[in-house]
Amino acid sequence: MIDLRSDTVTLPSDEMREAARDAAVGDDVYGDDPTVNELEARAAELVGKEAALFVPSGTMGNQIAARVHADPGQEALVDEKAHVYEWEVGGFAQLSGLQVRAYDAGERAAPTPAQVRDHAREESLHVAGTGVLCLENTHNARGGVAVPKADIDAAADAARDLGIPVHLDGARLFNACVALDEDPTAMVERVDTVMCCLSKGLGAPVGSMLAGPEAFIEEAVRVRKQFGGGMRQAGLIAAPGLVALDNVDRLADDHANATVLAEGLDAVSGLSVPTPDTNIVVVDSEGAGLTAEEFVELCDDVGVLGGTFGQYHTRFTTNLNVSRADVERAVDLVADAVESR
Ligand SMILES: *Cc1c(COP(=O)(O)O)cnc(C)c1O
Repeated sequence: MIDLRSDTVTLPSDEMREAARDAAVGDDVYGDDPTVNELEARAAELVGKEAALFVPSGTMGNQIAARVHADPGQEALVDEKAHVYEWEVGGFAQLSGLQVRAYDAGERAAPTPAQVRDHAREESLHVAGTGVLCLENTHNARGGVAVPKADIDAAADAARDLGIPVHLDGARLFNACVALDEDPTAMVERVDTVMCCLSKGLGAPVGSMLAGPEAFIEEAVRVRKQFGGGMRQAGLIAAPGLVALDNVDRLADDHANATVLAEGLDAVSGLSVPTPDTNIVVVDSEGAGLTAEEFVELCDDVGVLGGTFGQYHTRFTTNLNVSRADVERAVDLVADAVESR
C-alpha cells in the first residue's frame, strides 16, 4: 500500500518514540512541563515571534487565534477556499461568534491589497466590522501553493493599515519556506500570529504551534483552557514535536517526490496534473472520463491511496513515509490501472 492520502498519516519514528519515553514532564497547565516549555521556546524562535503555545491540533490553533483577535459579532476575512472556512466545522461561527466574509484568492492563493481593502468593513452603527484577516500558506485547497513572502506581506500590510490583525494558517508553513528558500522568520514577520503543524510533513504524532506576541499568547493560554486544550504531562507528545522540528529541511524530498509523481501521472492519457509547488499533487481525471470517486477507487484497487478533492480532482500528498521508489511505483500502478480499464 502506498499511502498518499495526507502528510498526516506518517507514523512516529523510533527516535520520536524514544524521545516520548524519556521526556522530562510536569503539569503543563501549571506551566511546569519542561519539554513543552522547550518546544514553545524553540518554535517561537524559529518563526521569530515573542512566544508560542503548544496546542493539540492545527484546528484548535486557528480557532484560538480567531477568538483572541476578534470580538463576537465581527467578521473574519478569509479566502473562500480557506481551511478555516471549509474544513473547521463552522468553528468561527460557533466558537467565536464570527461572521465570515470570503474573497476569492484565485491561483495566487492570497488576496491582493485591493481585495483586502474592498472586503474589509469598518465598524459603524450598521456594520459589524472586520476583526481578523486569515491567510494560508501553503494553501491546501489551491494545491499546496507556496505563497511568496511579498504577497503575504502586501496582504498583511493592507490589513494592518486598516487596524485589522492578521493570522496566518501555516499548517504547512515550512513547506512554503523550503519551496521558496525563505527564512520562516522573514515569511511571517508582517503577520501578527501564525499556526504551524508538527503533525503533517514534519512527522510528529500530535500537535501544532501557535505563535505571536506575548500578550496574545497569554490570552491564548486562557482560550486553550476554555476550548478543552489544557494538557497535563504533555511533554510526552511535545518531545516527538522537538524531534519533528529537525525534519524541516527534508521537506524538500517530499516536494521532489511530488514533482516526480505529478509529471509521471500527467503523462498518463486522460489525466491532467500541474507541477506542484510543494507536497500536494492534484490530479484532474475528467479527461479520462473518471470522476474523482471513480479514480480514487481505481487507485485504491491497485494499492495507491489518495483522496477526492472536488468532482474530478483527487489529492495525493507525498510524505515522510513515502520514498522516491514508492512514487515511481505509484505512477506505474496508476498508469496501468487507467490505461487497462
Ligand atoms: C491540516 C490543516 C489544518 C488543521 O490541522 P489539524 O491538526 O488537522 O487540525 C489547518 N489548516 C490547514 C491548511 C491544514 O492543511
